[in-house]
Amino acid sequence: MSRSREPWKATEDDWRKLVGRVRAGRPLSPAAWPDNARCAVALSFDCDHETYELGSGGEAIGRLAWGEFGRRVGVPRILKVLERQGVAASFFMPAVCALIDPTETQRIMAAGHEVGIHGWIHENNSKLDYATERELVLRARDVLEQQIGEPPVGFRSANWDLSPHTIRIVAELGLEYDSSLMADEDCYELLLDGEPTGVVEVPVEWLRDDAVYLMFNREPATRPWMPPDHVFDIFRREFDAAWELGGLFQLVMHPFIIGYRSRIWILENLIEHAKSRGGVWFGTHAEVARWVRQ
Ligand SMILES: [Zn+2]
Repeated sequence: MSRSREPWKATEDDWRKLVGRVRAGRPLSPAAWPDNARCAVALSFDCDHETYELGSGGEAIGRLAWGEFGRRVGVPRILKVLERQGVAASFFMPAVCALIDPTETQRIMAAGHEVGIHGWIHENNSKLDYATERELVLRARDVLEQQIGEPPVGFRSANWDLSPHTIRIVAELGLEYDSSLMADEDCYELLLDGEPTGVVEVPVEWLRDDAVYLMFNREPATRPWMPPDHVFDIFRREFDAAWELGGLFQLVMHPFIIGYRSRIWILENLIEHAKSRGGVWFGTHAEVARWVRQ
């Protein structure tokens, strides 16, 4: 399909095809979660590190150091909180990040967490042709598999930029779930051109992403810094609503954003708040996907 710069000229066939490419299929909302819990919490950390700069074509040494903070300080700090709280989480790892320091992947796995695919170098999938995108996902999977000793089962597109082929590739590779889309707050099965794929979507939302509130860019000037209390309040309300409705609370964080000493408490207080409500099960994204598919 041509991507017209004059979308009003698209034919009905064009826009129907595009809209129908990837859709939400059957809802996957279990009556109960493991341990008979009423609510599930799925925490995730996108280890973009240096590839946050590299993947967008940047070469700025200063911004690479920013990514290095996530690696040196952020991840260890996050792992400490998760260990203290006895909670498992999912870490989405670009292959280049895994290659820069394989011990990070190993430390994450050794602590009982999940490592999922997050592109080769945090590339923008929406700009790639099918063959290139497929090749990069395959290479990324192989690197992670070699490091964690088993094939990764989950995929998250960098910056949640998907091409019309991304979900096809995820399904072709036999991955169990994607976590890049947002057609619901609870899990659902992905349809590709109207056909069930068997791939579970563990949905994300900008609303539940630390970068939205705490990210900083000089150019273009983006300074949405919010007081940590406000970010905590937004996340807590999302959790409380998920708890009331008996659903899933899924959260995306970044080691170079949440990992600062003035912010890391948000993670720990959220976990403690969730525990205090009772009837909460903490699972990795893979565990969530498997449970809802049953
Ligand atoms: Zn990312």
